[in-house]
Amino acid sequence: MIDPMGRNITYLRISVTELCNLRCRYCMPADGVCKKRHDQMLTEEELIRAVEAAASLGITKLRITGGEPLIKKNIVSICRRAAAVPGIGEVCLTTNGLLLPELAVPLREAGVRRINLSLDTLDPEKYAYITRGGSLEQALAGLQAALDAGFDKIKLNAVLIGGFNDGEIPQLAELTRRFPVDMRFIEMMPMYDGGDFGPEAYLPVSRVLEQLPEALPETADGGVARLYRLPGAQGRIGLISPLSDHFCGRCNRLRLTADGRLKPCLHGPEELSIKGLSLEEMTQRLQQAIRSKPAWHGELTPSRRSQAGRNMNQIGG
Ligand code: SAM
Ligand code: SF4
Repeated sequence: MIDPMGRNITYLRISVTELCNLRCRYCMPADGVCKKRHDQMLTEEELIRAVEAAASLGITKLRITGGEPLIKKNIVSICRRAAAVPGIGEVCLTTNGLLLPELAVPLREAGVRRINLSLDTLDPEKYAYITRGGSLEQALAGLQAALDAGFDKIKLNAVLIGGFNDGEIPQLAELTRRFPVDMRFIEMMPMYDGGDFGPEAYLPVSRVLEQLPEALPETADGGVARLYRLPGAQGRIGLISPLSDHFCGRCNRLRLTADGRLKPCLHGPEELSIKGLSLEEMTQRLQQAIRSKPAWHGELTPSRRSQAGRNMNQIGG
């Protein structure tokens, strides 16, 4: 379906849980989230109904996210059923990777085609710091499991944080030489409750290129990242710039939260509930959400924070 700005909305990001087995400092508070009642969250049936409604409006691509989607008990079933909905051409998943050693093969068999794995640093102590206690070894085991399972594409996501991982740009980029993966650097977005970082932590992704003078531009592939490649690398470098050069004019996505709210814009306050609705009602609500997509998310700087009203783990990124 085409939105009022002429953008063709073909991509739905579904957060299946707000909960997580990590506590990344840019994403969620140290004490986690106030667990919502079970009956406030979408059931698997409602979730699949939402996918059917979305597919009837021209959504072809799904991304399953969270919180951490792999801690959801029925994650394999959700992926299998979502991938089987007529019209859905591609199911992708974003994960911190910790549970991929157990789940990579079942997810691949369930029809997940692509995996995005979050990896901000290659230093075990820094990994434990930024995730508030996570194990880098476990995340790297997850990456290996994803490589072994044979997904169509694996992308690594690093949130670029001044004073934390900007000194590791060459090492992270080097992963595209060692493995058939893309390495994407994402500007840190100032979310609702992002108290851990001062203004100096918010770097533009142009810093990445300053440290990779040998990187050559590649043709864009329709996604939001600007693409480059190191000579001889198997994968590409992607730069994602929601602050320094927003891509709202090309936005083709809608978001659905685990508690059943459609968000027309990641950084906007508007939410439309689909909890408890029939297929027909959900379809109407989706149309309403697409019609109310704003032209852009408004200025986003360390002092002009996101208007999302939620932390990232409650939206899905
Ligand atoms: N738990 C999964 C993971 O970490 O990949 C999926 C959910 S997480 C919210 C999705 C993505 O959002 C991750 O790549 C994470 O790095 C990114 N993210 C979270 N908070 C962010 C922020 N403030 N700015 C930029 N990216 C952020
Ligand atoms: Fe969890 Fe992902 Fe947020 Fe980290 S970025 S706290 S892994 S949801």
